[in-house]
Amino acid sequence: MTRNKVFEALGAKPTNPRWSWCAIAPDHSRAVFTLWEDEIKDGQNNLFGDDYDVKGRLGEMDQKRTLELVINKQIPAYGLICIALDVNATPRSIKEIKAEYLIKLRITKVGKSIYGKHLQQIHLIDLIKSLGTINSENSGLNDLGIPRGNATPDRALFSSYTVIRDAKVRDYVIKESAGTCEYCGKKGFLMRSGHHYVEAHHVISLANQGKDTVENVIALCPDHHREAHYGAEAEALEVEFIKCIQQRK
Ligand SMILES: [Zn+2]
Ligand SMILES: [Zn+2]
Repeated sequence: MTRNKVFEALGAKPTNPRWSWCAIAPDHSRAVFTLWEDEIKDGQNNLFGDDYDVKGRLGEMDQKRTLELVINKQIPAYGLICIALDVNATPRSIKEIKAEYLIKLRITKVGKSIYGKHLQQIHLIDLIKSLGTINSENSGLNDLGIPRGNATPDRALFSSYTVIRDAKVRDYVIKESAGTCEYCGKKGFLMRSGHHYVEAHHVISLANQGKDTVENVIALCPDHHREAHYGAEAEALEVEFIKCIQQRK
């Protein structure tokens, strides 16, 4: 995922992919700015300063023009946090971007300087969905790695994490349970193999940074496993599951 891909996914093409630091939608419905992580100060980024060499730099000229447009036309502005390869280089280049979310910005001018005050974080996928104008055929959206027909972030995360799960952890927990739901104590149905059927469940989901360790995996009957994922009382169940795990000998 590159910065230009994020810009593109938001329907905001940079004036020039090489030297532009910002991008604006052709209908002026939104603008996106590069926010250097090391330059965030007091919850804001200085997006344009007196000391900027506007004459010499196309990128800065473009940034100033876009910022003034945003202020004059009150265009919604967002920031993408980027980490510089070398903070002392001019111009800077990007080492890494924080692609999962954008920051809603309030653009304000103080003297000749223009600041972007950070308001709230918005998940990139939520923002793309809220724009509505972009359909799933949009190339930018496809580059986010979301499987077709499954455009929710959690599912996308879930399926990519599924691949890296350690089957040994799951097998161990199932074996230790001896076919009994660790929550309700009910034995699963008898399988042809002669074992009783239970399912392994990650108490804190991997998508929520849960660990793929024995201490985070519980053996459940199919009923309780479904309830853990879809039940109205799923949060209360989670607490109970943690207790069950702690009480293992
Ligand atoms: Zn159960
Ligand atoms: Zn589960």
